Amino acid sequence: MSQSLSTDVLIVGGGIAGLWLNARLRQQGFATVLVERGSLGGGQSLKSQGIIHGGAKYALHGALTGASEAIADMPRRWREALAGTGELDLSGVRVLSDAHYLWSPGTLAGNLTSFFASKAVRGRVDQVKGEQLPPALQHPKFKGKVYRLAELVLDVPSLIARLAELAGDGLLAAERIEPLQEHGELCGLIVDGREIRAQRVVLSAGAGNAELLAALGVEQPAQQLRPLHMVLAKGPALKPLYAHCLGGGPKPRVTVTTHPAADGQWVWYLGGDLAEADGVARDEAAQIQAAQKEMAALLPWVDQSQTRWATLRVDRAEPAQSGLVRPDNAFLAEQQRLLVGWPTKLALAPDFADRVLARLQREHVQPAAHAPLPELPRPPLGQPVWETLLP
Ligand code: FAD
Repeated sequence: MSQSLSTDVLIVGGGIAGLWLNARLRQQGFATVLVERGSLGGGQSLKSQGIIHGGAKYALHGALTGASEAIADMPRRWREALAGTGELDLSGVRVLSDAHYLWSPGTLAGNLTSFFASKAVRGRVDQVKGEQLPPALQHPKFKGKVYRLAELVLDVPSLIARLAELAGDGLLAAERIEPLQEHGELCGLIVDGREIRAQRVVLSAGAGNAELLAALGVEQPAQQLRPLHMVLAKGPALKPLYAHCLGGGPKPRVTVTTHPAADGQWVWYLGGDLAEADGVARDEAAQIQAAQKEMAALLPWVDQSQTRWATLRVDRAEPAQSGLVRPDNAFLAEQQRLLVGWPTKLALAPDFADRVLARLQREHVQPAAHAPLPELPRPPLGQPVWETLLP
């Protein structure tokens, strides 16, 4: 059996939630170990579109309420971290776009009226024209209206790499997790046969939380998975575009982000309504056809003859919710020494960490003395999906 270890906070899951929390805890003097069974970011985080939402999208269908505005503060907190003046130093992380855009392809859609009147977007949305338009929309044939939202788009691979750096020696590649108990109470985990004692255990394993809770014999909180069928397009004629394209409904018809591939080309990553219910029901060929039709209708001037296409099925993991989706806060549940949660959005990783830190403070958990960590097997960094699907 490997040498047993002790730490203050033992985190399971190295996506954005676990890595961000880990970096904040270390910065505050806590000892941490973060266990990852696959690759860092390789769950949902590296499959996300990297938009640091400020909640504007939800104002479209009125779901953003006064009581749930944690998300409204996220762009500011991320900007400060990216400038090296915030809660974490993310100054080397690549920002793909300083703004995300709202794009109405025809006349102003009716639902935009209430959108502009809402508190969440007031003073944060400006119409852009001409040379200020995103490069892919700068064409004489472009007729729609475009508004600039104060929401960043990040290069998630560089974000994950930076947070892995901030994790120092505390990352551990391991697969098998069993509870470690003392007097009938959880006091750590047995990780691939190695005992790790901790003051608190945090499960931030995304879709893996359900299985971990089952392994620990814990029933709540329940998890829900929301399937998506995303589309990727890569070709020499593609130019950057970061936008929600509005249709008639409450959800964006397509949400486009653009990512740099290693060979210098751009990759469009398409989500929004295209990737939801009807898109999930389509097989890969039909989903690609649907995406090609959408993009030909919206951007007919883009020569797609050399574009290659692929799709990606991926689930969003969240706490089970009844009825309306509550997209604008991270979720954390607590049971004695066990904390478990989902950020529900990449953008909300700071809110997830806040909730864990608040819990530690409430329970007077302080950094304690621990033996230095031995050299641990380190999990690899995950690969961007566009490199594996469209090499
Ligand atoms: P994950 O990133 O899934 O990480 C969990 C980690 O836990 C994984 O690395 C996994 O390998 C590991 N793990 C699982 N089980 C175990 C185990 N038993 N032992 C050890 N490790 C384990 N949010 C935004 O804010 N903006 C966006 O633009 C955006 N776009 C998205 C697009 C898509 C297609 C999807 C699917 C999501 C998007 N999201 C977006 C949501 C966002 O990606 C997620 O909310 C966020 O990445 C979740 O982070 P996480 O750390 O909880 O989970």
